[in-house]
Amino acid sequence: VDILKKRKIAVLGSRSVGKSSLILQYTENHFVDSYYPTIEATIPKTITYRGVEYECEIIDTAGQDEFSILNSKHAIGIHGFVLVYSVASRNSLEMVKIVYDKIIDFCGRASVPCVVVGAKLDLPNSSHVRQVATADAESLAKELNAAWIETSAKLNTNVSKVFELCLAEIEKSTGKGQSE
Ligand code: GDP
Repeated sequence: VDILKKRKIAVLGSRSVGKSSLILQYTENHFVDSYYPTIEATIPKTITYRGVEYECEIIDTAGQDEFSILNSKHAIGIHGFVLVYSVASRNSLEMVKIVYDKIIDFCGRASVPCVVVGAKLDLPNSSHVRQVATADAESLAKELNAAWIETSAKLNTNVSKVFELCLAEIEKSTGKGQSE
């Protein structure tokens, strides 16, 4: 009998970058324009990836800033991390790096399975709205040894891809015998 594969995925990043919207679109297939700040939520979701069923827990967080101390339950025992920034906020991309460093410190490992996600891809591409060039985000992801993707929760673009990439990153690292 095959054992159930359980995976915990934490979704982190600055406030209002679109973390809850991404999760809501993925798990319930809808989008809301209004903004309700999240306190903390754990959403169960079965994800089939490459023919394997994973029982996942997706952990939505209130959001981090440079001064907040990373909650241990957002680092310890987490298999994979989804680090979200908004393509309309340069500061939120910088927060991805800061949060990543906090995770690394907490976990005491050289690297952790991670996907860097540029949210709100549907916003106008004009320079006064878009603050993050794809090349800058891609090079940060490379530096963090992470996967990278841009998404729109509003238009449901690349949303399921985020979680598949995260499982792929987790599998890569378990393959190397780093965690299980
Ligand atoms: P969180 O604090 O990171 O969980 O952010 P939310 O998911 O609550 O989203 C913050 C605001 O951004 C809300 O008003 C959302 O409607 C909006 N938002 C989230 N995702 C998108 C998106 O893909 N496109 C656009 N245009 N707006 C988005």
